[in-house]
Amino acid sequence: MENKSTREIDYAIFAALERIYQAFRSMLWDYAKHNQLSPIQIQFLLYLASKPEEQRRVSNIARDFDLTPATVSDAIKTLENKQLLKRTVSTRDKRVHTLDLTENGRELTKVLSNWQKVLLSQIASFPEDTKESVILFLLQLVESLKEARIISEVKTCLSCQYFQMENQLITKKQQFRCLLRDVALNLYDLKVDCPNYRAKK
Ligand code: SF4
Repeated sequence: MENKSTREIDYAIFAALERIYQAFRSMLWDYAKHNQLSPIQIQFLLYLASKPEEQRRVSNIARDFDLTPATVSDAIKTLENKQLLKRTVSTRDKRVHTLDLTENGRELTKVLSNWQKVLLSQIASFPEDTKESVILFLLQLVESLKEARIISEVKTCLSCQYFQMENQLITKKQQFRCLLRDVALNLYDLKVDCPNYRAKK
């Protein structure tokens, strides 16, 4: 049953997540100002640098960032004008344009990825056991926000039709399996934004 102390923990978690989000935004703004870009343009460049050709499209960015295609197109046009991005005809489908980083764009993403490295080095300093608990909690939080329609498309193992687990209770000792790749998964293998994800029906 919910009592005062559980409500305090809930609020403390909320406040900590909010503070981390503010820190992300503030670091992004610093990088953005320094490189004369907006934070969302930086996020688009890093996104495109990490995606295979078939995912480097305006529609994919709009879906993954919860933005309208018109908003994404405006930011993409600015990046094209700055000669950091170019559109090319997809090798898979001639009707589709993919977004490719130019040489300048690739150089810039190497610098921008330092933004992620600073945060990743902090995460890396925590004990494995703590990180296991955190990833379990965060993945389940993402799924519950998805169910509540607060966030839309997030491709995590937990809602993938290829994901199999021994029972419905998700714990650190639980054994997982990816049926698509036919491999056992442990907590560290659980993915956010997996390219092979297929939503459960
Ligand atoms: S296909 Fe990707 S998201 Fe689905 S279970 Fe396998 S690793 Fe997880």
